[in-house]
Formats: sequence, structure tokens, C-alpha cells
Amino acid sequence: MRKVVVAGERQVAFVDVPVPEPRGAWVLVKVEASALCTEYKAYLTGRQLLNPGHEGAGEVVAMAQPGRVKIGDRVVVLPQLACGRCALCLAGDYIYCENELDYGMTFGTHDGSGTLGQYVLKPDWLLPLIPDDVSFEHATMAIDGIGASFGAFEAIDVGALDAVLVTGLGPVGLGAVANARFRNARVIGVEPMPWRRERAAEMGAEAVFAPDEPDLLDKIRVAAGGGVTCAVECSGRLPSQRLCIDAVGRRGRVAFVGEAADDLVIRVSPDLLRKGASLVGSWLYNIGDYPKVMQVIQQSPLIDLLVSHVLPMSQIQAGFELLASGQSAKVVVNPWE
Ligand SMILES: [Zn+2]
Ligand SMILES: [Zn+2]
Repeated sequence: MRKVVVAGERQVAFVDVPVPEPRGAWVLVKVEASALCTEYKAYLTGRQLLNPGHEGAGEVVAMAQPGRVKIGDRVVVLPQLACGRCALCLAGDYIYCENELDYGMTFGTHDGSGTLGQYVLKPDWLLPLIPDDVSFEHATMAIDGIGASFGAFEAIDVGALDAVLVTGLGPVGLGAVANARFRNARVIGVEPMPWRRERAAEMGAEAVFAPDEPDLLDKIRVAAGGGVTCAVECSGRLPSQRLCIDAVGRRGRVAFVGEAADDLVIRVSPDLLRKGASLVGSWLYNIGDYPKVMQVIQQSPLIDLLVSHVLPMSQIQAGFELLASGQSAKVVVNPWE
């Protein structure tokens, strides 16, 4: 089978390795579509990735024992290698599992552990079914395209009476726009790249501002008809994190989705206590919500705008460049082309 390797700065290689063998509850999936995500950052900096990819969809082709899926099932390949046994896993919050399975110890190789390859091995319970009328390309949105912000929207309970601020309209933030519109919430966006601002507007954001716009807070308040009730932060940037906290009104709710390395200062009295605000972090969603995530993908007319590019895996370099340029939403590759 062929897999992608991020070999160095702006360098991609394709490597042929043996197809991994299923064992125990680990099932072999033929990957039909894989969505690109943070791997492009390694591509830009030259950090080597030997088995990249965590957003896949495909068909079950082999297993070692009868289990939760059968040969021919169309499945989403959920990320991480949660244990399936701890209290968090049993509650569906597998994404926060602290007892991850050791792929290398189990198989003596890491080949087949990433979705940017033609086959992947996964424990069967992390392979939920795809409805017949949903394409593999759209199904990959069940991970970070729609899924990442879906968990945040559930955590802060966004509904039709809300006006949501979404900061950072990259692939995840544009997915947040789709989630907001699916819930009939009003949505205001903030994003530096013009292409992404336009795409957000096309997807139904009522107003989309650049982060350096003067009087940004006032403009957000006016655009939202008196202020936003909640915010979903998708950029990972400190000024945007602060903007989300400042933009929500009393009793506001803020969910942080964008990964961030820097320290944000929280002032307990003005930010939380006097405001009665809630700040939560969210990493993907409870697996029990998978049917609801898939319902968004199945029914939202915005998914075709969220998947901006579908490319052969042989052109993955162009896909990484698109993500780096800010002129794309989600980019999906087909490992067989
Ligand atoms: Zn991702
Ligand atoms: Zn666990």
C-alpha cells in the first residue's frame, strides 16, 4: 500500500509499505477519503511525519474476529486510539482517554496508523457507520470539519435564539459557521484571510470582519443586534481568545476549540464572576453524538462549501499549499488516485 510521509520542509514522499494485518478487535479499513488538517504545519516547518492523517472514511475490508462492523461497511475512522475501557471511554468521551493503546507495541510498526495512506487499522468501536447517501468525502467532515466545533456547540448549548461569534474561519471555523446555521443561530465571523471571510459570508455569516478592523467590538455588537450571546474560538490566537471573552454579554458562553500554546490572562471578576460567563474547552465530541454530527453532514446545504477541494493523494503537496495559503476550507484527498 502507498502512504504519505512528510519528509522535510515543503517535502512530501510516497512510500510503499506492506498492508497491515488486523488483530483482535482491530479492523482493516480501505481509506477512500482523508481530510487534511494540521499536518500542513509540519509540512511548512519540516517536522517529519511518518504516518500522518487522522481524518478518514472508507470501507471495512478485513478483520480478525467478528465484531461491531462487518466486511463492506462504510465507516468513519475516528481519531486517537482510546482504550475503550476507562470511565471516560465508557461515557463516550473517548477523546479525553488517558490510556491510549500503543499501536507500535501491538503491530511492531506504525504503518497503517495514519489515514493519509491506502489502508488504516482501527479498533472496531471507533468506526461508526456512514449513511448510504453520504459520500466518503463528506463523511470525513465528521472529524474536524463539522465534528470539532459540534462538540463546542453542544458544550455551550447553542440554539436558534443565539448570536454566535466565530473567531478563526479556517477549516474548523467554517465548520462552526455550518453548525451555527444548522441550528438557525445568527453568526458573526472574524478572520484575517479575505478568501475565508468571503466563504464564511457565502455560508451565511451575517458579518465577517478582519481582526485588525478598528472598533471591532462595537462592530460585532452592532452586527449581532446588541451583542453576541456566545462565541466559539477556532484560531488559537491570544487576541481572538480575548475578543471572544470581551464580545459575549452577561451570562455569555465561550468555547475554545483552536489549539493554543500561549498563556491567556483571565481576570476572574470582570471576565467571569461579574459577567456570569462560562468558558469551556472542547476537543471533538462525545461519541454518542455521532448520529447528530452525521445529521448535520447529511442535511446541511453548506457541506459542499465546507469541502472546498477534493484532490488525488498524489497531489497532496498542492493540498498542503492550499491550506498554507488560506485560500481553502477543508481539503480532502483520495488515497487511490
Ligand atoms: Zn483534524
Ligand atoms: Zn479510555
